[in-house]
Amino acid sequence: MSDTASKLFVVSGPSGAGKGTLVARVREELPNLGLTVSATTREPREGEVDGTSYYFLTPDEFQRRVDADEFVEWAHVHGHCYGTLKSEVERNLLQGSSLILEIDVQGALQVRERMPEAVLIFIKPPSLEVLAERLRNRGTETEDAIALRLSNARRELALQDRYDEIVVNDDLDEAVGQLIGIIENYERN
Ligand code: ADP
Ligand code: 5GP
Repeated sequence: MSDTASKLFVVSGPSGAGKGTLVARVREELPNLGLTVSATTREPREGEVDGTSYYFLTPDEFQRRVDADEFVEWAHVHGHCYGTLKSEVERNLLQGSSLILEIDVQGALQVRERMPEAVLIFIKPPSLEVLAERLRNRGTETEDAIALRLSNARRELALQDRYDEIVVNDDLDEAVGQLIGIIENYERN
């Protein structure tokens, strides 16, 4: 019999803090960890694939699904709608393994309301300066979009105390190790 239990982990933090990078690295080490594909109304970036990176929906289609109560949580983030479909969570939980939701702080707090057993993990950049540098180096956003993400980062950082765990993503390998440690620790308890 397995001595670990499947858990729902929610990872959030400012855009550019390194959530995507960290979660991808953690999933290489823990391949059974499920990841939900979110829905969004934003345009795909170069290389993003519909159904894998996100479900890219029109605003009308997104609203239709909100009205049909198809989301576990959803929020307006950086000028677009993003949400986790109930079907995605159910699909993953049916497989009996733990699951990671990589979502913004508003969505994380909605999940906490609906699923109090969820473990909330906040990913923090070492400083706002480093965050700005990472967003610029990533090269996926215009300067206007970067400015919006940085001003939202201040509001997001103010909510970090509502989380169960905080990981500072300074050295990537160290942050990956910390995140794996947290996940394994909760799965054992
Ligand atoms: P998020 O998913 O939180 O928006 P990303 O994972 O896209 O952030 O990371 C933002 C940028 O910072 C990417 O270009 C990524 O390669 C880089 N990055 C992530 N973690 C680190 C780190 N520990 N040190 C340096 N650069 C990092
Ligand atoms: P990006 O546009 O850079 O892919 O994501 C922007 C922000 O949207 C990130 O902070 C990310 O965590 C958040 N996000 C992605 N998917 C979801 C989701 O399903 N729900 C919520 N609430 N936020 C999400």
